[in-house]
Amino acid sequence: MSRERLYLFDTTLRDGAQTNGVDFTLADKLTIARLLDELGIDYVEAGYPGANPIDTSFFAERRPMRARLTAFGMTRRPGRSASNDPGLVGLLDAQADAICFVAKSWDYHVRVALETTEEENIASIRDSVRVAKAKGREVLLDCEHFFDGYKAKPGFALACAMAAYEEGARWVVLCDTNGGTLPHEVERIVGEVCALIPGDHVGIHAHNDTEQAVANSFAAVRAGARQIQGTLNGLGERCGNANLVSIIPTLKLKPDYAKKFEIGVTDEALGRLARVSHALDELLNRAADRHAPYVGESAFATKAGIHASAIVKEPATYEHVEPERVGNKRKLLVSDQAGRSNVLAELDRIGLAIDKNDPRVMRLLDEVKEREAIGYAYEAADASFELLARRMLGQLPHYFDVEKFDVNVEQRISGKGEALTVSQAVVKLKVGDEELISVAEGIGPVNALDVALRKDLGKYQRFITGLELTDYRVRILNGGTQAVTRVLIESADENGDRWTTIGVSANIIDASFQALMDSIVYKLVKSGAPA
Ligand SMILES: [Zn+2]
Repeated sequence: MSRERLYLFDTTLRDGAQTNGVDFTLADKLTIARLLDELGIDYVEAGYPGANPIDTSFFAERRPMRARLTAFGMTRRPGRSASNDPGLVGLLDAQADAICFVAKSWDYHVRVALETTEEENIASIRDSVRVAKAKGREVLLDCEHFFDGYKAKPGFALACAMAAYEEGARWVVLCDTNGGTLPHEVERIVGEVCALIPGDHVGIHAHNDTEQAVANSFAAVRAGARQIQGTLNGLGERCGNANLVSIIPTLKLKPDYAKKFEIGVTDEALGRLARVSHALDELLNRAADRHAPYVGESAFATKAGIHASAIVKEPATYEHVEPERVGNKRKLLVSDQAGRSNVLAELDRIGLAIDKNDPRVMRLLDEVKEREAIGYAYEAADASFELLARRMLGQLPHYFDVEKFDVNVEQRISGKGEALTVSQAVVKLKVGDEELISVAEGIGPVNALDVALRKDLGKYQRFITGLELTDYRVRILNGGTQAVTRVLIESADENGDRWTTIGVSANIIDASFQALMDSIVYKLVKSGAPA
């Protein structure tokens, strides 16, 4: 049976850019557009030329890509001709393959927000689609507030959609702009639209205000829509847009969809999905959502002992899809609840094969339990666990010694009379016979220590150049200033690999230092640095 083509439209760079705290530079936009293109997205909506200088310069030149590069903008303003509307003229000049217009389709908005008539709103849709077609662009129309509009006055909402379709718009996109529509309503309304406009010209644009943007997208597809609009990691205003990172694997891996539909994302590209998702977080300088479906660090993590022994024998017992298909990995959490099977499976994954009756397995498990009793949490720190295991099995090269370190924090009054806090760290290392002393200043004591520690590792320096700290988390266990501090550090390297290390101490600097050291040593092991 031949499969039907379903199209993916990404608006991370336009709707996603509306997210609180997100500010893409031109370079960010170009990087993300390339990621989306390599992933196999059909349409990349890169912005709103004319609305801000970055979007205007994005579309000022041709950006060759396989995906159809789409510019977003408004239909002609009411009461003006298309050629007399500077916004529309600018949009038509944008170097884009497609233009996605947004227009009102709710009579209430036409009256209150646009202060015009329903007839003029429809005429504006017709004129705009026509001029963009004449300019050789593929045209899409986002029908804003379509579902609310349809509930209020179905005839008008449909007339807006029909006007675009009749003028030759390739896609009429039904938007749940407020994000409050429920899946069964989406399915019914999209079904009614598809009775008039062929589904392979109908798209869905869902927002996540009831946490059902993904479900609403699938409801629309079931009712006939053949284009899904969404963003990477569900980025978007308020609660976000439909998350393409969840939608794509469902389309590819769930037989109900996979047998029926074909999308532009290959199996090979699907295998890079987790990396694409993390790349966006990194660019936004955010910690990745550990619990994100398919791509989160915990998406395929199992903790309890009995589940773990079953999962080792037969992964399908506790996994709905194979983690490798989306570029993720199975993780058996090693913790004080863990049994031997977790430890064995984890050693196997790391590549430290060991006989299951080797007494060192129990010794390692005891060590983990002892350390967890004083505050370590190895289930959250895969790299520190690996180092612990390697040390116990005699498989950890000895790279260097820290002879001493010294960190100070000093507050002084600047020339302008402002209080200024500066930190300085000195680290004394011994690498082989070489003694190295590094001094660095930092924003805070941990930053200063990190910079000093990584400044000069002598012959090992070249192995850690791509190392980067991506997240730093501190937790005070059992309260008060006498309490124990747990530090978790997430690191990444030039290959896009990520790992987490841990440190525990009554002293926050000491705990941070342990976690920083583990991260560096792990990177050296990973890079195959010689002892
Ligand atoms: Zn939107």
